[in-house]
Amino acid sequence: MDADISAWEQRSVVRVVPPVQPRKLAKVPFVELADGRLQGVVSSGSDIARVYVSSIAAGTHAYTCSTNNNRPCGGLYGAPCKHLRALADEAVLQYGLDRVARYLRVEVPAGGDLLGSLSGGPTRAPAAAVFARFLRHLAYLEVPDSTAPLAELHWFPAVR
Ligand SMILES: [Zn+2]
Repeated sequence: MDADISAWEQRSVVRVVPPVQPRKLAKVPFVELADGRLQGVVSSGSDIARVYVSSIAAGTHAYTCSTNNNRPCGGLYGAPCKHLRALADEAVLQYGLDRVARYLRVEVPAGGDLLGSLSGGPTRAPAAAVFARFLRHLAYLEVPDSTAPLAELHWFPAVR
């Protein structure tokens, strides 16, 4: 698996990577490593209409969780809430532990847990930017299958 990852990383263009392991999309519909953060959208365990936007910053490991309307998550008492835990678990399924740990610049001891190895504390960050990326991601899922080029994706180099 490591050989595959490094081969992939040596390419100059980014391809869509299939998840390392199958993910539960209903629980964490969106997860990405972008803008210097592990970030994503996590469904509320209790209210089907509510989602949480959770993120962990690379380097500082400062983490945040709020609803998509910027209401702070009630589960953040000086430690990551269950949404951040779900986000971290799904990121590991999507990208593999090594890649997530490298992106966040965290040392995870052998057999250790990603969240338990972070050194940051809670911070406030607006959820809007992450939520907008999620909505754009959903919009692309609704684009009908077609071989015609999508104007918005022109800045991606074509991969053969
Ligand atoms: Zn939360």
